[in-house]
Amino acid sequence: MSASIEFNQLHKRYGAHPVLRDFDLKVQAGETVTLIGPSGSGKSTVLRILMTLEPFQEGCLTLDGISYHQPHGKPPFFASDVHLHKVRAKVGMVFQSFNLFPHMTVLRNLVEAPTAVLGLSRDEAEGRAVELLHMVGLSDKAKAYPGQLSGGQQQRVAIARALAMRPQVLLFDEPTSALDPELVGEVLSVIRSLAHEHDLTMLMVTHEMRFAREISDRVCFFEGGRIVEQGKPDQIFNAPEQERTKRFLSSVL
Ligand code: ADP
Ligand code: MG
Repeated sequence: MSASIEFNQLHKRYGAHPVLRDFDLKVQAGETVTLIGPSGSGKSTVLRILMTLEPFQEGCLTLDGISYHQPHGKPPFFASDVHLHKVRAKVGMVFQSFNLFPHMTVLRNLVEAPTAVLGLSRDEAEGRAVELLHMVGLSDKAKAYPGQLSGGQQQRVAIARALAMRPQVLLFDEPTSALDPELVGEVLSVIRSLAHEHDLTMLMVTHEMRFAREISDRVCFFEGGRIVEQGKPDQIFNAPEQERTKRFLSSVL
């Protein structure tokens, strides 16, 4: 089952530096939404807050119908450990830099968290890992170490590893930005196959405009910590209404 996401009037500062102000975003369960926009506009921050990697100062985040508030600047950052665990159990994230455990085989990378965190038996976790490796086209790499794989292969393992935790929401932060151009396609094709899964809500930051246009249910153009304009891909890419969106698109397309 996928989960809905809602940011409500969220404020986020790094020290005195405000990044998100009155930030609102709703993503429906099963929806695929991409965030596009200039560097430094706060896109990663949105994903990192959702993944509980960053605290926020004001406002409210609702995940799968459960709302989380954070007390003003009061450490520890999260409302409670319960919040942290509940959110982390529902959300998976794929980063630009694949972040695999380098000293573990591919299979162990996929088995480790499901056994330690979800309490699956080794057999169950391995069965699931084998299925996922098949899905990302890497059945023959189970015994390899990350360092023996290409960047594209490592990123496909990272996607399989995120899925091994059975998330309801999957976040992608520029998943192909660290890859050589010839390796981008294989990663996008794995993500494409996930986008049509109704059981997964996907929120993705990407600079691959053609891809965003192809797979998104909705595209949000993000600038200065706000969504300037959002809509169906055809509307955003063919007929943007805001000058800032037009300017950004003409600089990247
Ligand atoms: P984007 O992903 O759109 O490039 P980010 O969310 O990474 O933007 O960053 C938004 C703003 O927050 C930028 O001005 C960036 O310099 C600042 N920022 C990001 N992470 C930190 C941090 N850990 N500490 C201080 N400032 C940060
Ligand atoms: Mg970023």
